[in-house]
Parts: sequence; C-alpha cells; structure tokens
Amino acid sequence: MPKVTIDYEKCKVSKQCIDVCPAAVFEEQDGKVVVARQDDCTLCHACESACPNGAIKVEE
Ligand code: SF4
Repeated sequence: MPKVTIDYEKCKVSKQCIDVCPAAVFEEQDGKVVVARQDDCTLCHACESACPNGAIKVEE
C-alpha cells in the first residue's frame, strides 16, 4: 500500500505535485496541498522529483 506524505515544514504550496501526479492523488484544500487519494498512487515518484522543496516522500 503506497504511503505518500507531505512535510508541511517544507511545503510552499507550489502545487507541482498536483500538476505532475498522473493519479490525482493531491488536492488543494483551504490553501494547503493534501494527500486526498493515497490509495490511487501508482508509485511513479514523479511528485518527489517535481517538488522544488523536497517536501514529498513516497514509500511502498
Ligand atoms: S508517486 Fe506518482 S502516482 Fe504517487 S502520488 Fe506521486 S506523482 Fe502521484
């Protein structure tokens, strides 16, 4: 089961993860990016590479 976590100390809400995720795992809610559909993650790791702040971690 994929585990996608956002480090809110690092997240600057660039929303790159929302743009690159092919599975629409991320959503913006109340000015924050949240992991809305974690179970849909395909473990492609695109979000980790795209985040300019290194805020996302994807584990299997
Ligand atoms: S690893 Fe891929 S599918 Fe999973 S949350 Fe990141 S971009 Fe989306």
